[in-house]
Amino acid sequence: MPSEHHDAVIVGAGFAGIGAAIQLKRLGYENIVILEREDDLGGTWYVNHYPGLAVDVPTTTYSYYFEPNPNWSRLFTPGPEIKQYADHVADKYDVRRHIRYNTVVEGARWDEDASLWRIALRDGATVSARFLLTATGFLSQPKVPEIAGIETFEGKVIHTTEWEDDFDAAGKRIAVIGTGATAVQLIPELAKRAADLTVYQRTPIWVVPKIDVRFGERAKRLFARVPVTQRVIRWLTDSIYEVMVSVAVRHYGTFRGRFNISAADLSKIHRFATIRDKDLRRRLTPDYDFGCKRPTFSNGYYRAFTKPHVHLQDAGIARIEADGIVGNDGGKNVVDTLVLATGFDLWEANFPAVEIIGRDGRNLGKWWRETRFQAYQGVSMPYFPNYLSLASPYAFLGLNFFNTMEYQMRLMDRLFSEVKRRGATTFEVTEQANTAFLDRMTELLGESLFTMGNCATARSYYFNPAGEPTLLRPSSTESAIKEASEFPLSDYQIV
Ligand code: NAP
Repeated sequence: MPSEHHDAVIVGAGFAGIGAAIQLKRLGYENIVILEREDDLGGTWYVNHYPGLAVDVPTTTYSYYFEPNPNWSRLFTPGPEIKQYADHVADKYDVRRHIRYNTVVEGARWDEDASLWRIALRDGATVSARFLLTATGFLSQPKVPEIAGIETFEGKVIHTTEWEDDFDAAGKRIAVIGTGATAVQLIPELAKRAADLTVYQRTPIWVVPKIDVRFGERAKRLFARVPVTQRVIRWLTDSIYEVMVSVAVRHYGTFRGRFNISAADLSKIHRFATIRDKDLRRRLTPDYDFGCKRPTFSNGYYRAFTKPHVHLQDAGIARIEADGIVGNDGGKNVVDTLVLATGFDLWEANFPAVEIIGRDGRNLGKWWRETRFQAYQGVSMPYFPNYLSLASPYAFLGLNFFNTMEYQMRLMDRLFSEVKRRGATTFEVTEQANTAFLDRMTELLGESLFTMGNCATARSYYFNPAGEPTLLRPSSTESAIKEASEFPLSDYQIV
């Protein structure tokens, strides 16, 4: 039986996969399929639905450039509205019919003779495609901590990515492991109902106050009727974030970390204003620079620790037993529910999320590890023809995923238009262009927070296992978009 063939296969139906499909459709490709392992679209915004979930950058900036949403209810919109937005975009741009759910991709191999990708699915089927785009996201492989005895725990275990909506914290003795951005949102919600809540902190997180506003019906009507008003607000919030990332992260050296110090001071004031117990404040204070790992906004996180039934445990976990957790201090905490807010495996399980074998048998995961993590313009690697990896090293612009998507869609536009114009069959980035891009990224990172700041104790996923900060692209949104729209076409071999 001949295997199914498409012009393009996209892996993942989150915002990256939806954006890629929209761009391909604009370019005239209709024979495309999006393979999605879940049973619905939206990626992280479908998978995550724990209490307290909200976007942690202003939602005014959190949409595709071409599809502003006048209906956000708040500046920091709750998660379900973002899932609704994903649904709306998929419907409006006719993407939904291309998605195949419950379809797990095992791997993809470039067939040099046929000049196409052969994609193996878990159910044993094979799909072939001229172009392959992986849009598997950065935060998509949940991490279960390797703690002695965790498998022996007899109570309820919930990872935040597998929240049970009917779980009622009322009266429960709960342990939360982890104090990342997810835990910061979840802990105040659990604290409202749990009988007892212990938070196991390994690394404290920087938390600053959240200045949230509600968008009433009048504001929403204004955004819908006079779209320029929303554009202006977006420009404003985009600019504020752009300046923040530029000053605090990319040009840390130039500004001698002043912004980071001020932000850390703000967090300190926030702790001081909320928590009376000096020792508790000290234990919640990070010892690395603000920005080394993703900082968070919350008005309820520090306050939760002031409640008598909420405890901070920072002595470390010795082991987990059937009915509770034994700390490194020897004390045992009997709990009935274990919440794993332990985040995601960003590097080992995710770069790449599925096995990709390119030309001459080059294995992408191995090659990244044996050489360095690298990707021209955050999407292309030599020896991987007709392939774009949207969740690559140096892809993410930081803070707002949609800015990243915008430059990647423009790059697709330029590249695929040229492929079409020349009637070509393959494109592949040249070794030279890839090396020049990697050298430039490495140089730009030289004056960044990650190189010059004090990040050693942050345990930040911005750093790969070799200790290099290869996740964020150290350039402004504007320059990334400009490069994606104007890169020399000779950077690719288009045959
Ligand atoms: P995370 O930031 O990686 O945090 C995981 C937490 O679990 C950390 O505190 C980590 O401690 C702890 N942990 C992991 N393994 C452990 C172990 N074996 N023992 C003890 N502690 C352990 O993950 P996350 O909180 O899920 O957030 C991930 C990212 O998702 C965020 O950075 C953010 O970009 C995104 N996010 C966004 C939103 C939003 O926009 N609304 C909301 C939530 C999350 P260490 O720090 O010591 O490793």
